[in-house]
Amino acid sequence: MLLSITSTHRPATDLSYLLHKNPVRVHETELSFGSALVFYPEVSEARTTAALVLDVDPVALVRGKGQGEGLLDQYVNDRPYVASSFLSVAIAKALRNALNGSSKERPDLAATAIPLRAHVLPLPVRGSRDLVTALFQPLGYDVGVEDIPLDETLGYLGPEWAHSPYVSLTLSGTVRLSELLSHLYVLIPVLDSKKHYFVDRQEIEKLIDKGGSWLAAHPARELIATRYLRQQRTWAREALTRLAEDDAIDDVLEETARIEAAGEAAPTPATRPKPESTDDADAAAFPAPRKDAAEEALEQPIRLHDLRLDTVAAIVADSGARRVVDLGCGSGKLLARLMKVKHLSAIVGVDVSMASLAMAARRLRLDRLPPRQRERITLLQGALTYRDRRIEDHDAIALVEVIEHLEIDRLRAMERAVFEHAHPALVVVTTPNVEYNVRFPGLAPGTLRHADHRFEWTRHEFLTWAESVADRHGYRVELSGLGEADVDVGSPSQMAVFRLIGVT
Ligand code: SAH
Repeated sequence: MLLSITSTHRPATDLSYLLHKNPVRVHETELSFGSALVFYPEVSEARTTAALVLDVDPVALVRGKGQGEGLLDQYVNDRPYVASSFLSVAIAKALRNALNGSSKERPDLAATAIPLRAHVLPLPVRGSRDLVTALFQPLGYDVGVEDIPLDETLGYLGPEWAHSPYVSLTLSGTVRLSELLSHLYVLIPVLDSKKHYFVDRQEIEKLIDKGGSWLAAHPARELIATRYLRQQRTWAREALTRLAEDDAIDDVLEETARIEAAGEAAPTPATRPKPESTDDADAAAFPAPRKDAAEEALEQPIRLHDLRLDTVAAIVADSGARRVVDLGCGSGKLLARLMKVKHLSAIVGVDVSMASLAMAARRLRLDRLPPRQRERITLLQGALTYRDRRIEDHDAIALVEVIEHLEIDRLRAMERAVFEHAHPALVVVTTPNVEYNVRFPGLAPGTLRHADHRFEWTRHEFLTWAESVADRHGYRVELSGLGEADVDVGSPSQMAVFRLIGVT
């Protein structure tokens, strides 16, 4: 069976950096059930295609199995020839780094949505053909499904063979390669609806790991989880509940939030600025500081991330900005707060991840907003390390817990896109304070708060960076801690507020 991936992102030959496979060689990976070959049938600056061909050894499949199944069933089945959970295992083994989104040579490209086309042949589909489109279209692909006619004489092998369940699948879209691979990793076995190995609870973790960022927002999530977990409905429910928890939806922040919540004392609400321009509904979102100590003790501790988001929303609200951009908006938590600030006329969320944007659209209920509200908000896919004219002509830009996800050598590119080209009156940046990490009991010494963080800064490092950015681009900057400060290590999070000199 064959999986091919074509990139037309120039120079398309960069696909080889993402796949970690030199295009001039054939790469073979040994698997317990056969071998996976990766090679490049097409290599040019305009178009490069990598192919993964899986050679399943039918004898290896039955070796070591008892006499449980009929001999004919063991030897005569479609398993060696079709895309199935074998292909998912092959993707995980032969294309591991690409699946995880890591790339030593081109990390920025790995984090960037690029035009990709995948072809899977032959793909067994149990159930209606429409299922293929129903599974892939919500993830942003153009889906092509073609039947593969099967010689009717094969009908003697069983009814399943008489009506060919096999299709040739083509997906085209602008996505990160790791997203495309994780979609295929989960959805191929879902369409096939069989697993070649014993399914245990580990599979829940795999589903959450590979589906975490997009599955929670997928309209067919229940079918996906149930089929993926081989009809184990209680497991499917567990997986979906874990995915649906507000913080779990936020794949990137989930772990950070957990670690932070474990070590954090309740931040003092009194330190939170209250925006002027709120009506009653907003007042509920930004409760006034409480003076009564007993009442305060009863109050739910405000989570650090909510504190960040409330603070940034309040600063934007107070600044007089009308047009605001949330760069790296994730699942749209800040956007939801900004929507409540009445005088904001244009609110733009930008993220590289289509899955995050889909979650933001759901959180903001874009499909149900009245037209006048709907006009205020725009969600855009984009990479913040490239100049983007769509975000220029705005008064304020927020980057909440985003810079630490960039490779440090790409910070300059972000800085130019934001401070030089977009050049808004206000920029607010938040990032963890690495000094505070020693106060998190769950965090091993020297580890960062999240696996996807490329760096975390001390207060001094953040100050040095912020002052030099401000100097170079004509801003003044103020730094502050977010969350209750520890005498030795400061606050758990930190924030820089840049204001354009001469404007504000
Ligand atoms: N600001 C949000 C999410 C922070 S998580 C919040 O505070 O809730 C970091 C986000 O940055 C993720 O959604 C991730 O997809 C996005 N991101 C990481 N690198 C990016 C890049 N180069 N371009 C655009 N977005 C990026």
